[in-house]
Amino acid sequence: MITRASELGVHPTAQDVDKWFLNHQGLHNSISMERISLGKSVQHRTLFANRFTNTPDRLTEFSDEKFLTNHRLETKISSEPTEDEQVVILMQSLIHGNEVLGLLTLMQIAERVLAEVDTLLSNKQNLRSSSLKSKPSFSIIFFPIVNPDAYHVNLQVNAGCRRTNLRPCSKEQEQIIQLNLSDKSVFAMCYTNAVDLNRNFPADWDGQYSAFSEEHFCSFNHRGAAPFSEPETQAVKKLVLEYNVTHFIRLHSRAVPRMQPLLIHPFASFRPMADMLPQTEAKHRQWVKLMRLRGYKVGTALEAIEYAAGGTTLDWTFSQKIMAFVHEAAVPNVCTDRWCGEYKNLHTGNSNIILKQTIKDSEIGSIFVKLAPEDQIMQSNQTSFLHFWLPQNLCILSTFGMFCIFARRSNPIKKLKKFICWGQKK
Ligand SMILES: [Zn+2]
Repeated sequence: MITRASELGVHPTAQDVDKWFLNHQGLHNSISMERISLGKSVQHRTLFANRFTNTPDRLTEFSDEKFLTNHRLETKISSEPTEDEQVVILMQSLIHGNEVLGLLTLMQIAERVLAEVDTLLSNKQNLRSSSLKSKPSFSIIFFPIVNPDAYHVNLQVNAGCRRTNLRPCSKEQEQIIQLNLSDKSVFAMCYTNAVDLNRNFPADWDGQYSAFSEEHFCSFNHRGAAPFSEPETQAVKKLVLEYNVTHFIRLHSRAVPRMQPLLIHPFASFRPMADMLPQTEAKHRQWVKLMRLRGYKVGTALEAIEYAAGGTTLDWTFSQKIMAFVHEAAVPNVCTDRWCGEYKNLHTGNSNIILKQTIKDSEIGSIFVKLAPEDQIMQSNQTSFLHFWLPQNLCILSTFGMFCIFARRSNPIKKLKKFICWGQKK
């Protein structure tokens, strides 16, 4: 049974990723897993997400809010979250089919978070001393492969060349796709483009703040015929709305080594920050500041990546009152590009090097823990969802309300600390 993400190497197949998540079913004492089927991709590959929770019966409330053009929003989680307000974190990768480092990051995070949270929730002593009366709820959804068709093509040719989905963009391409995907036809598909799924969301899909979402079919940044025209983006929409997601993080990767890792907050489009409530902006700024110290480039898309994009998931989720971030992993120096194609047939030895380097720059939560001065964690009282008096030298801290449990103290007996997690407070 595969339980370690690193055993899957640098280019795990979709089946391996699927199996790996399925192996988590029954692996934990306090967390159960729900498989969520989200329909099929353009080429009829199943889209699946995995929800891990300790409160499986807790039904989420369906909210079908229309896309709001007015972004002056607060987030769904109130400043004093009650026990009824469930934090639902959604993590996604591979919306761009060639950014495999995002997938590796997601799996590493999943592995660590699930193990740590399970330990925490299984410890009855923790729960007894919790200041919450009822059992704290935990819910995290992983949607690892948003664009499975492109990922498949990339695995076939090992070139990491396909970014967009595989909607046929011409008669010739349609014929190619209908062939039985011999290596040659896959190769041909690799070098044409279709819809850039991260330009297919309704937020500034067009209009004055839109950018980099070309109308021309078969272009690298084509935004699609209409918002949510693609089955893959409809899957994201379904997941976000039906599961009442409150926190969203998308994992991408930079193109080549020696580019700084990024942490991007809304807006990705040309929309000015004046369209965001000042306190919401301040919150975003505060969170990313620590990452800047760690060597990240942070801010809006324009500030961090130095271009703007319309129709992104980031801006759409934000428009749905969701705390949203994009993380772009740095490419490890041992790889020549984001695909790390030179490691295709090499196993764990090399993949460990890559994972180590990726995780060093990507494990957002742990970086926050290391950076945040202890008294700041204690005094700012910035999160409140689970409250534990931890008997061990463990701490949970959220990156915008996210996890991470790490050793903080060498002498836990003398200093019991109250650490708080899940759900960001203003
Ligand atoms: Zn990307």
